[in-house]
Amino acid sequence: MTLLPITLIGDKILRKKATRVTEVDMKTIELIKNMFDTMRNASGIGLAANQVGSDKSIIVVDISGVEDCEEFKPLVLINPKIISRSEDVSVFEEGCLSIPDIRADVERPESITLTYNDTDLKEITLKADDLLARVVQHEYDHLQGILFTDLISDDLKKKVKKDIIKIKMRKIEFQYPVTEDVDYQMQ
Ligand code: ZN
Repeated sequence: MTLLPITLIGDKILRKKATRVTEVDMKTIELIKNMFDTMRNASGIGLAANQVGSDKSIIVVDISGVEDCEEFKPLVLINPKIISRSEDVSVFEEGCLSIPDIRADVERPESITLTYNDTDLKEITLKADDLLARVVQHEYDHLQGILFTDLISDDLKKKVKKDIIKIKMRKIEFQYPVTEDVDYQMQ
């Protein structure tokens, strides 16, 4: 099992748009395997490649450990693209392995339809609802350089500001390997 250090809010790669995958070679397969290991070790249910320092457009998801979701198989989404979103929205408390210990309500469409490539780069269309839609949208945002804390109310943003600074300065206890302190500057 290989655990990769998880990038944290403040790390530049989390603000970069992911690059399209045009070839799935051994290195890509290794990255996907390591992403699953890293996600599961951190008790996560979704992980985007930039959360382990890669700019590739890849997401892994595994919600099968969640109650009532046991039937969902783990998913690897390469080059995902959301092609439609439901008008119905839901509010759900989200967290993120790159923003540990912070949770906040986020409103998102309840269902989505997306296309993605599998590891043979075959295009697949997937309709996702409820928790799966939630996780996929959260991870999809990562690939666009968006974090869930960008989507919360201004009041909540103020509330979590200090905690985010602590994360950026690596001043909290981490339950899994994370990247080293970046040259954090107060700004
Ligand atoms: Zn996240």
